[in-house]
Amino acid sequence: MSRSQISENALKVLYRLKKSGYEAYLVGGCVRDLLLGREPKDFDVVTDASPDQVNKVFRNCRLIGRRFRLAHVHYGREIIEVATFRGSADEESEHQQVHEDGRLLRDNVYGTLEEDVWRRDFTVNALYYNIRDFSVVDYADGMKDHKAGVLRLIGNPETRYREDPVRMLRAIRFAVKLGFTLHPDCEKPLHDLGGLLLSIPNARLYDETLKLFLSGYGLQTFEMLRHYGLFGILFPQTEQCLASEEEGFPRLFLIKALENSDKRIADDKSVTPYFLLSAFLWESVQNLCNKKLQEGENKYFALQNAANDVLSLQVKSTAIPKRVTQSMRDVWLLQSRFEQRSSAKVYRLINNPRFRAAYDFLVLRAETGSADMELAQWWTVFQAVDGKEQEKMLRETNKGVRKYRRQKSKPRAKKTNE
Ligand code: ATP
Ligand code: MG
Repeated sequence: MSRSQISENALKVLYRLKKSGYEAYLVGGCVRDLLLGREPKDFDVVTDASPDQVNKVFRNCRLIGRRFRLAHVHYGREIIEVATFRGSADEESEHQQVHEDGRLLRDNVYGTLEEDVWRRDFTVNALYYNIRDFSVVDYADGMKDHKAGVLRLIGNPETRYREDPVRMLRAIRFAVKLGFTLHPDCEKPLHDLGGLLLSIPNARLYDETLKLFLSGYGLQTFEMLRHYGLFGILFPQTEQCLASEEEGFPRLFLIKALENSDKRIADDKSVTPYFLLSAFLWESVQNLCNKKLQEGENKYFALQNAANDVLSLQVKSTAIPKRVTQSMRDVWLLQSRFEQRSSAKVYRLINNPRFRAAYDFLVLRAETGSADMELAQWWTVFQAVDGKEQEKMLRETNKGVRKYRRQKSKPRAKKTNE
């Protein structure tokens, strides 16, 4: 493994710990990815120093976490996570707590590297790069699996999934991202154990959801999650729509949204969680809105209330932060404003901070047949032309609208005259 691919800050942390007399290794995804010749997302360090000892070595250090106590070493925007080797306690103590369903609630028993290995999830995530002699330490036969492209849990798969059900989501995320196959023993329990995810705090599931869908392989991940019945745990309302879909419409819309977002990531463009999440829930919002309309609610409130109801149900599964739900609501509510094209309204809409996302959303709807393609094209052209052309477009569009209104009001005028 070449050191030139390792982040300078991670190297600084490793050398500093070593100089202070501690053991220091890179571990986890970064070693796995470097061995594949890929650029790691982040660098995780493990050491035999306790969090408090790590804290004393670095000035730019913060201790975090309760379930797992960790040190974060800050370098500008880059954070190097430094964990202490985990050990195994023979029985429950104040440092380790196991829930009756097998879930680990607290795990702050420290140990040695040899013990730490068995706490990790997959064999390919349990490779340790030693800064002392640049070797890779492999106790779990991770190298063999790594070469074969196999994702295998360390230990008994069902026990490991029960200990931490999020490992099921991680299995799918890594299988897709690395192009590895799930070992049959790890794959089999996935069909039955999905329900265990319901016991995971919704904030953690939100974090996992972002990793699942915003890492560049959203579409494949979506298909695989559905295959194992796990998607419905994260997005129950969406799953319900998909189950009762007509003419493949919601599925097509979701697939397009995921494809777009994967393509943006491949092109190094930014992606926002709210865009994809609003696509996931759009069908549910519309169904509920239609129901409310049938019950006699007025058009504006029906949509707004439907958006609120769908969101408050969704946050029970994945705790979407307020600023994100607000943007999702904006994207949905702005959809009806694209039809209104008086000059004042058009400029007000275009200056709305959420215009770009709402417009992209409109295009996506048009491409999948749920919005007027001509309308979407009008907005595409309108943004591309200069001010003079824009005025011309507005005049022509509104001339049509005025003519239409006149025609509509004429017969009524006649009737009153008679
Ligand atoms: P990436 O950062 O590319 O998403 P990663 O493997 O580094 O992948 P992290 O969440 O950064 O994943 O975790 C770092 C390491 O910590 C993992 O490789 C694994 O060894 C261990 N780990 C993380 N989460 C768990 C878990 N839920 N159960 C067991 N081990 C875990
Ligand atoms: Mg990582």
